[in-house]
Amino acid sequence: MPEASPCSACSAWLCRPEDAWCGYCGASCAQLRLQVTPDVLQVRNMAPNLSFKLSNSSCATVEIGEVHLPDWLILPSALPKTLPAFSALNFSGKARTLGIKQPTAEDVTVMTSLGEVTTNVMVIEESPALESEPTELELWGNSDDENRQLDFNIVPRAGSLRIRSVEQGPSGGLRVVSTLAGSSVVSVHEGLRK
Ligand SMILES: [Zn+2]
Repeated sequence: MPEASPCSACSAWLCRPEDAWCGYCGASCAQLRLQVTPDVLQVRNMAPNLSFKLSNSSCATVEIGEVHLPDWLILPSALPKTLPAFSALNFSGKARTLGIKQPTAEDVTVMTSLGEVTTNVMVIEESPALESEPTELELWGNSDDENRQLDFNIVPRAGSLRIRSVEQGPSGGLRVVSTLAGSSVVSVHEGLRK
């Protein structure tokens, strides 16, 4: 369930999940949600049907506009024109991942009268791998160095992956400090800095 959050336009109003517009500046603050299952597919594999759920927790009826999809994803049937207040719409999608050779992560965006709502679908390698940059860290047993910070970056070998947590290994004397907050999507372009 979404929580109340300050209006993204004016910050002067706390928009509740059921609010459709900011009570101070009138900007849309409907907390629409788009979820997809599964959200991770595999390259060169036959994908299962995707189940989408578009939720409108606001007190206003939402008009549904265009849907922006990656070119390997289709919706077999058109969406209804409106989504009533406090309701959800389930619809399905067909992914043609058989022909995708390279891992990718793309957005599915539904345009509505109360703003756009987006979710991400990832297509990953059958056996994805993460790499660290640099691949090795040199540690010296020097007491002057006790609080030295060593930065390294974790990136997938290809495409994007979602990292859920970073665990401390068995190494002595090294404490892992991660920038990860919750789960995080990392790509070859933007890794997880530690
Ligand atoms: Zn506002």
